Amino acid sequence: MKYFTGVFKFFAISMEIIHISAECYPVAKAGGLGDVVGALPKYQNKSGHVAKVVMPMYRTKFLYENQWQVDHKGTTSLGSWMFDYTIIKEKTNKLGFDLYLVDINGLLDRDRIYGYHDDTERFMAFQIAVLHWINQWDHKPDVLHCHDHHTSMIPFMVKYCYAFNRLGNVPTVLTIHNAQYQGWMGWDKSHYIPAWDTWKGGLLDWKNTINPLAAGIKTAWKVTTVSSSYLEEMKWSANGLESLISQEQFKSMGILNGIDTEVWNPETDRYLREQYDPEIVRRGKDINKKFLCKEFHLDESNPLVVFIGRLVGEKAADILPDAILSSLYSMQGNVNFLVLGNGEPEIENQLVQLKNTFAGNYNAFIGYDETLSHLMYAGADFLLMPSRVEPCGLNQMYAMKYGTVPMVRSTGGLKDTVVDVGDNGWGIRFEQPTAGDVTYSVGRAVQVYQEKEKMESMQQHMMNIDHSWQHSVDQYINLYQDLKH
Ligand code: ADP
Repeated sequence: MKYFTGVFKFFAISMEIIHISAECYPVAKAGGLGDVVGALPKYQNKSGHVAKVVMPMYRTKFLYENQWQVDHKGTTSLGSWMFDYTIIKEKTNKLGFDLYLVDINGLLDRDRIYGYHDDTERFMAFQIAVLHWINQWDHKPDVLHCHDHHTSMIPFMVKYCYAFNRLGNVPTVLTIHNAQYQGWMGWDKSHYIPAWDTWKGGLLDWKNTINPLAAGIKTAWKVTTVSSSYLEEMKWSANGLESLISQEQFKSMGILNGIDTEVWNPETDRYLREQYDPEIVRRGKDINKKFLCKEFHLDESNPLVVFIGRLVGEKAADILPDAILSSLYSMQGNVNFLVLGNGEPEIENQLVQLKNTFAGNYNAFIGYDETLSHLMYAGADFLLMPSRVEPCGLNQMYAMKYGTVPMVRSTGGLKDTVVDVGDNGWGIRFEQPTAGDVTYSVGRAVQVYQEKEKMESMQQHMMNIDHSWQHSVDQYINLYQDLKH
């Protein structure tokens, strides 16, 4: 689908972009992938393109609260198992793009996105159904944009599965949001892939197993990562894919995520107790902080440091208990911590136990809570991200938008977005994901907090930084357009 969008777009050719993803906010989100797929297509449409999202039909609240129409019904197979699938479309363009859900009974009709024993079968069947459907359209889309390993078999399948030959010349883009998870599946499951050119088996393989993320990196026309620093870091740390990343560097680039300011904006955020703009940042944040501190029994006169995220090693959540303990001792209780997250049970338990020791200075909510996350970005003074790996990181950008000083380890997207106060910036950076580095940084944070004027001008500065999607959208569109020539 190509047509001119008129003089105002300087005769730019409008493209039809199909995003295929396991997550999309607010339909289903487990982390940053959901935020990105819920926003990027919306802003691509605003730029005059036709971006659509295709994702599994999980049984989430969004499904039951919206109106749908059946777009297509088909039958295809996963290995020898024939299955029916249904594509439904959201009727009202509620999210600012056409949203299609793929229903496969017995596989996708679950409450959660991930974490089932048959995730391999679920996401393979999903990808096969998506291609089976698109293959029957009477036109071809301009780009298939895949996200992470759950959809990264698509670039291979359109090139080498005989059934999808017709789509063989449709450009594919793979965005790596997180290379830690790669979707590994044994060669005993190779029959799941619809009849394919077996000479190409090497493209599926990485270290004697089928590695969907590696297959996507090898076969996609272009590969993007969600920050330039992450692309560089992946050459020496990518959970086993380092040499592949270096090898495929010629077709790879980093494009930093933006933030969806229609969702993340303290001036309009309906989850806040008090909305605010840079001019009234101190007052606005104080009201939200007061509410948070009351809810979590914390002394509101202390600086409040929060952590929001998955409680996993990648985020260095395992160092949080020690880091909090040592910071509280070294600051003699003149600082508070609040944690929101869920993940590894061991870390969850330690964080819960800490509540008894430091009541009044520390609290935690173990679970996933979108509303609370917004309140914490608004009510906190500092947001801690000691991540071992951070491909882009959205939390620090949300924090800045809400006037909350990011305290981040210098890695990946954190390095690309946060400048230390010592370099005339607005954040606190540290080098190692250790309790020692965090404790030292908390000391620096408390000092910054005491200089009220300086703190306020930093807050105003960071709230005015432009993290909108426009810049990223332009970069993605240029990338797609290059593929068409
Ligand atoms: P990742 O995708 O690696 O988890 P990102 O920084 O890219 O990390 O995105 C994390 C997103 O998930 C943010 O929107 C953050 O607010 C949200 N989030 C993470 N954990 C929770 C939680 N327990 N409750 C609410 N929101 C959460």
